[in-house]
Amino acid sequence: MSVCQSCGACCASLRVDFHPAELAGGAFAWGAGVPLVMTVPVTPAIVRLRGTDDAPPRCVALAGEVGVAVSCTIYAERPSPCREFDVEHPACNRARRQCGLPPLD
Ligand code: SF4
Ligand code: SF4
Repeated sequence: MSVCQSCGACCASLRVDFHPAELAGGAFAWGAGVPLVMTVPVTPAIVRLRGTDDAPPRCVALAGEVGVAVSCTIYAERPSPCREFDVEHPACNRARRQCGLPPLD
């Protein structure tokens, strides 16, 4: 199991916005695209993953228990900000700290 599969902190602490073209049916959708019902509209050029702006935040697509075992239920369709985020990202340890998890070395 990768460290991310036993973490999920970034999916439960960061707001995730992307262009509507990555929605299902959109011109830049990955795989089948992000289901519209999993998003909220922000502006004509921005949609947000539902739940990522809640208090506390948690993406509606995240399954499992943060810090124990998690998975993304739309992994093949996840939008570009999710694809660009990994353990090398400077916000990774910030997200982990926000979820009460120790930093990665
Ligand atoms: S916060 Fe870092 S370690 Fe945790 S899932 Fe995201 S990228 Fe992986
Ligand atoms: S779509 Fe998947 S990878 Fe992206 S924030 Fe939600 S659960 Fe995490």
